[in-house]
Amino acid sequence: MQYFVIGAGIWGSVIAERIASQMNEKVLVVERRPHIGGNCHSSIDEKSGVECHRYGSHIFHTSLPEVWKYINQFTSFTNYHHTVLTKHAGRVYSLPINLHTINDFYGKSLSPDEAKAFIAQEIAKEGLGSEPKNLEEQAISRIGRPLYEAFIRDYTRKQWEREPTELPAAIMKRLPVRFSYNTDYFSDTWQGIPRDGYAQLFKKLLDHPNITVQTNTAYEDIRDTIPSDALVCYTGLPDALFGYSLGELTWRSLRFEWETHDVQDFQGTTVMNYADSDVAFTRIHEFKHYHPERAKVYASKATVICKEYPKTWQRGDEAYYPVNDERNTALYEAYTKLAAKNPNVILGGRLGAYRYWDMDKAIENALHVFETKIKR
Ligand code: UDP
Repeated sequence: MQYFVIGAGIWGSVIAERIASQMNEKVLVVERRPHIGGNCHSSIDEKSGVECHRYGSHIFHTSLPEVWKYINQFTSFTNYHHTVLTKHAGRVYSLPINLHTINDFYGKSLSPDEAKAFIAQEIAKEGLGSEPKNLEEQAISRIGRPLYEAFIRDYTRKQWEREPTELPAAIMKRLPVRFSYNTDYFSDTWQGIPRDGYAQLFKKLLDHPNITVQTNTAYEDIRDTIPSDALVCYTGLPDALFGYSLGELTWRSLRFEWETHDVQDFQGTTVMNYADSDVAFTRIHEFKHYHPERAKVYASKATVICKEYPKTWQRGDEAYYPVNDERNTALYEAYTKLAAKNPNVILGGRLGAYRYWDMDKAIENALHVFETKIKR
């Protein structure tokens, strides 16, 4: 059996690493882009020395012990804990919604129990059913309408170019709501940034004598050379694999505007969200704040920021987010049925699986797929 992995993102890299190290088989990894790491890719800005996440901020966080154990073989992590701020109506608030946000927004100084009772009253005003049917209902059923309208509604419209009533409730479940002053964006047991950066992590994952990586190589470039009995682990667009024969899946893309500023600190934090509709971008990332331990770079009078603009995906754009509504879920199902006709093709990764996965979920799935479908 020969092994091919299409795409050197996190799912594909873990699959390749497992095949190489656990089965002692050779794997060819082809990657369309000039670099490995998929959307986790990072590189150092030459002028400032700042390590930049080239496809937006990536913070590793997980509560899955097997994932944490696995990934720590290839990198150690800093103790960075992600916090996010958001600008609304000329003021800065803490995200995810927590006791700071609630008290700041309402101009109160409620205790945790008082805040719970107060927000419960706000929620009750809406008279929603027990099962939220969409993102708007999910948000209002957790934080009430005023907070939803301030921090969620317009940001979500910008991000998805859809009404929150037309988006799945699950997207909202990504954000915790807290009645304490804990401002962590994630609630996971383990969090951090790879100490030597994402580029190094991927180099290490794929650094095995059994693994050959070819960048700047698309699946189409090698498709005709793949023997029919080879195993192909495909992490590209599922509809593209089948020539879009059943229709096109919807994705969201992003556009980044990069700026270097000759100041030590541009915005005082890694991520500032922009909640309101009068600003076209959704957030500004300032990457040096991910590595305060890199003291020299951190103290220097240069910083790199990037403004993140949501973008309608068109063929040829990078796909960032699946849009898991009814139509796309059904279409993806239909493509998986096509894929199942060829047992030598496995779809995976955020694109291949059409799932809004975080990095740890992609690793968990890759480890599971390896154990159940690939390992002999
Ligand atoms: N969201 C929002 N306001 C914010 C941040 C997030 O309304 O300030 C909503 C929005 O719908 C977004 C979703 O929560 O798509 C998930 O946010 P998350 O930060 O997890 O998105 P990601 O970092 O994956 O883009």
